[in-house]
Amino acid sequence: MHTAIRRCLSLAWFLLAGVMLPACTTNPTTGRSQFNYFTREDEIALGMQAKPELMKEFGGEVARADLRNYVTEVGMRLARHTEGDAPSLPWEFTLLDSDVINAFALPGGKVFMSRGLAAKMTSEAQLAGVLGHEIGHVTARHTNDRMTQSLLVTVGAVTAAVLLENSDASDATKTVAPLVLQFGGQSIILQYSRDQESEADSLGLRYMTREGYDPRAQVQVMEILKASVTGERGLEFFSTHPYPETRIKRLNRLLQTDYASMVNNPNYRTGEQEFRTRFLSKLSAAYPKAGEPRFASSEAELDAMGGRGELGMIGLAAETDCASHAR
Ligand SMILES: [Zn+2]
Repeated sequence: MHTAIRRCLSLAWFLLAGVMLPACTTNPTTGRSQFNYFTREDEIALGMQAKPELMKEFGGEVARADLRNYVTEVGMRLARHTEGDAPSLPWEFTLLDSDVINAFALPGGKVFMSRGLAAKMTSEAQLAGVLGHEIGHVTARHTNDRMTQSLLVTVGAVTAAVLLENSDASDATKTVAPLVLQFGGQSIILQYSRDQESEADSLGLRYMTREGYDPRAQVQVMEILKASVTGERGLEFFSTHPYPETRIKRLNRLLQTDYASMVNNPNYRTGEQEFRTRFLSKLSAAYPKAGEPRFASSEAELDAMGGRGELGMIGLAAETDCASHAR
């Protein structure tokens, strides 16, 4: 390879490292040292930019202000318990006018939940479990992690292609090597995403119990999702969302260990009564003819969940389409 090209590449990597290293900080939520290329301001701007289109694809927000306000009220109470600068993020909790069962978050504090999922719940603690999980994706900065990883994978693949183009490697190697590198990188991102789901489950438990909700409600939400699963679910290995069974087992372990003192403890409420009177009864009155909730099936919906949105609470239908989550 020409010395000039090698020098150029070395310089490119040096500059990239220079940009990246200062961005490596300890996240007060996770306690992990995270390599986030994008700033908090970038995250907020990205969330604001993506929100209108995402809302349009999921039927906009529910028309009734009392229903929307209830979800916002619970969400804002949970957001107060987040770490570092997170309580001051421009949090927004949107109740989507969609019978698809899903919840997701955009970076910078935009949380969404469909009324299809809300209608399946029976307590305020379950609602807090779902919103807490999504808040966890935001505070752990999962989208930032994924975008940073994608950036590194792309830079790596391009570098490999340039290196091979100027070496004596065979044509076949020249073609395949960048693809292998790319695939390897993407696999790491997929693995990362599964870990992120577990982390968001844990953070959901953390925030809901800080607000005094019964942590068992988080498992109940998983049971609701498990009961709603239909059809092929794809291979777990390549899915970004672990099966509800896996998550239920993990959550139950946490309930028996870290959260044992909060189980069967009168200080931790379910809020069934409030949920029924302030929300569920009004929701069913407003949508009496709503059909059976369904999972997202269209390309647009999958793209919305896997491409632009943060990882959904559920996204079970999307599990069969690995490609949409690999980005
Ligand atoms: Zn999630």
